[in-house]
Amino acid sequence: MTQTTKFSDEIKVAIIANGKYQSRRVAAKLFDVLRDDPDFYLTKRNPDVVISIGGDGMLLSAFHAYERELDHVRFVGIHTGHLGFYTDYLDDEVDKLIDNLRKDKGDRVSYPILNVKLTLADGRSFTSLALNEAALKRHEKTMAAEVFINGVAFESFRGDGLSVSTPTGSTAYNKSLGGAVLHPTIEALQLTEIASLNNRVYRTLGSPIIVPKHEKVTIYPKRVGSYTLSVDNKTYTNRNVDKVEFSIDEHKISFVATPSHTSFWERVRESFIGDVEE
Ligand code: NAD
Repeated sequence: MTQTTKFSDEIKVAIIANGKYQSRRVAAKLFDVLRDDPDFYLTKRNPDVVISIGGDGMLLSAFHAYERELDHVRFVGIHTGHLGFYTDYLDDEVDKLIDNLRKDKGDRVSYPILNVKLTLADGRSFTSLALNEAALKRHEKTMAAEVFINGVAFESFRGDGLSVSTPTGSTAYNKSLGGAVLHPTIEALQLTEIASLNNRVYRTLGSPIIVPKHEKVTIYPKRVGSYTLSVDNKTYTNRNVDKVEFSIDEHKISFVATPSHTSFWERVRESFIGDVEE
């Protein structure tokens, strides 16, 4: 889905790169060119476009750095390595990116993100956004939890933990957990189990579940203990977790619409299948 937003004359651009030599080299080149170009204004504050240089992990960090500005920020990723899932340009395509930005009319491609609300037994709550997924695990011992979907008691889980992924995150941790690959325009969340115990006493569905937009997944851990909630590339540890609620957030992540955008299925094939020799 492509939308257009109104734009002022000059594009405010933030450049964010990981510490790798190649990423710093690309960042320096971009900085040199954009600094002297009247079409662009380099700034870390309130940018229109955030250029992330590195890989998918760097794009996740860029997303979290600007997650409070999603209503006006668009992202674009340059991959210093092979093509990633969130990166449209390779490191030797910097000139092509600059050219495309110069012709840019504010077109964007937007995808759903995950809202994660953790509530502690004392009533305090913390909300995070995830671009890929959030996974709840128990430290030290097996996690026992009640899973509710849209207020309905669905199953009693026992195992290592549970993950809830976004459509764009479906090719990340979710896929390693046996989850389905979801086209990113499908507005849904995916709940996957992490090593569930299934026997005559404990029983879960045992397969990934796709939950539509507007429905909420709630996990109530049954035991007092230490739990880790990993949100993309960050991890939080808490004791006495009452519940964790997962839903599609009202905001979306937007990317600069790229004329030469690789199709999603092409990316999936290139990343996971490659060229099969006959
Ligand atoms: P990392 O350095 O361990 O890299 C994880 C790998 O996942 C990289 O190759 C990256 O390109 C790839 N990746 C990230 N997002 C992707 C996506 N949406 N689709 C396909 N591949 C994707 O960790 P990082 O770079 O900090 O990234 C954190 C992410 O790693 C987490 O959000 C989680 O999805 C993933 N992860 C995967 C596993 C697993 O597959 N067993 C375990 C932990 C974390």
